[in-house]
Amino acid sequence: MTTTRTARAFHLTGRPDGFPTPDLFSLVESPVPEPGPGQALVENLHLSVDPYHREEMDSGWDLYTPLEGRAVGRVTASRDPGLAEGDLVFHRQGWRTHALVTAGTSGTRRLPSYEGVPLTAHLSILGGTGLTAYVALTRTLEFRAGQDLFVSAAAGGVGTAAGRIARVLGAGRIIGSAGSAAKAARLTGDLGFDAAFDYHDGPVGELLAKAAPDGIDAAVDNVGGDHLAGAISAMRDFGRIAWVGAIAQYHAADRPPAAPRNLYDVVGKSLRLEGVLVRNHLDAQAELEALLVPHLRSGAITPDITVTEGFERTVDGFLGMLRGENTGKMLIRV
Ligand code: NAP
Repeated sequence: MTTTRTARAFHLTGRPDGFPTPDLFSLVESPVPEPGPGQALVENLHLSVDPYHREEMDSGWDLYTPLEGRAVGRVTASRDPGLAEGDLVFHRQGWRTHALVTAGTSGTRRLPSYEGVPLTAHLSILGGTGLTAYVALTRTLEFRAGQDLFVSAAAGGVGTAAGRIARVLGAGRIIGSAGSAAKAARLTGDLGFDAAFDYHDGPVGELLAKAAPDGIDAAVDNVGGDHLAGAISAMRDFGRIAWVGAIAQYHAADRPPAAPRNLYDVVGKSLRLEGVLVRNHLDAQAELEALLVPHLRSGAITPDITVTEGFERTVDGFLGMLRGENTGKMLIRV
């Protein structure tokens, strides 16, 4: 079933100093590999590019080897009894066109077939992105119907998923921040938020206080720094914050402090501030799918994605995501 005879992969060739640049990546070609015993060959269809890849560039990823990332693809040849030709699989060998995988290792799994649910859902709202939002809400925040929620980087992958899932869970008001007026308009338009602001329009704490004059019960913070400080300021007594990420500080050269100056208000208001790491909650995957698949099938929810077309544009898609060019999850269509 293999259709392409040349495999392509991106390698990292240097470490970034500040915002990463395209010259740090090289596109390497090789013959398509043959599966050995226990392996299946996958042609990748969609790749995920994620903020954590920026962190991996500093020290996690080895230089001059294919990079890692979430991907979905189709099995084109198999010597793995757990995978058959034609199966659609999720695995972690992204940043390349072809991968040799083994079911059950490194997170490789055959994708469930949910009629009417697009494949891209498995890298967005049903993938690690949606799972992060889901566990932040249900486990860290113990989010309840009627509660008012603030989400930062709300127009991104985790942010849009948090908004969608909070609505399904019966949220009261949902307020989001994003990096442009157009994104703020999308948040209160088709993305279902009740209020939104562009964080460039003034101090985040003031913008949030205006958008949520009666305060908030809960926050999913993807940004850190002034966004986390704003969430603490707006929080009602006994509120909860799920700290998911600090995208504002991932580039060393222009790194602002992630810790907020009003941290001690956590004590004064009896708040709970807790970090979330999705890899500690992989057991919630079935729960996430049980909650969302009916909404995806009915069309009440569609995956929020931005797609960069063409494997050769993977680096463009990755850097674009870091710059905020995405609404919803940034994916690459191979
Ligand atoms: P994303 O939100 O889809 O993309 C990143 C977004 O960050 C951009 O679209 C951009 O949107 C925003 N951004 C970039 N620089 C910013 C800055 N200086 N200040 C404020 N916003 C900025 O990415 P994602 O995959 O959903 O991840 C969102 C956050 O969750 C990241 O912090 C990520 O590290 C974290 N995360 C954590 C876990 C975990 O297990 N803890 C798992 C997944 C993701 P704007 O146009 O709005 O600026």
